[in-house]
Amino acid sequence: MVIVSACLAGVKCKYNGKSNFNSEAEKLVKSGKAVPVCPEQMGGCPTPRLKAEILNGTGADVLDGKCIVVKENGENATQEFIKGAEEVLKIALLTGAKRAVLKSGSPSCGCGSIYDGSFSGNKIKGNGVTSELLIRNGIEVVSEERLNI
Ligand code: SF4
Repeated sequence: MVIVSACLAGVKCKYNGKSNFNSEAEKLVKSGKAVPVCPEQMGGCPTPRLKAEILNGTGADVLDGKCIVVKENGENATQEFIKGAEEVLKIALLTGAKRAVLKSGSPSCGCGSIYDGSFSGNKIKGNGVTSELLIRNGIEVVSEERLNI
């Protein structure tokens, strides 16, 4: 089984109430090979919601208690993001998933690069909170950009 970001499969769970539809991700789910998850919704965030970014660090730093996730209005969203990551890990373990295909850039799902916390579109190297937790638990994480290669 593969874990896939629900927004890639067409679920309208993105912060702005839209999806990030990707036909290859949809195919994975329709064929029964993948289970869709949205860590931010599972952590208790509403949809639509304010944008959030990791401030001065990466998902690894969030998990290690070294930095926080902030919403555009400055509110702290760290607990929701950690809870969402833990719930996704639970589903990965329940389904025996060894691989995850997650949405690039997201402070939860991003893999390899994420937004830098300035809400200006700049990216830095690093993983989102959910990607990092899955990787720490032996699950291979790739971004959806790899699906269309
Ligand atoms: S948290 Fe992940 S699955 Fe949910 S909308 Fe953001 S990128 Fe998509």
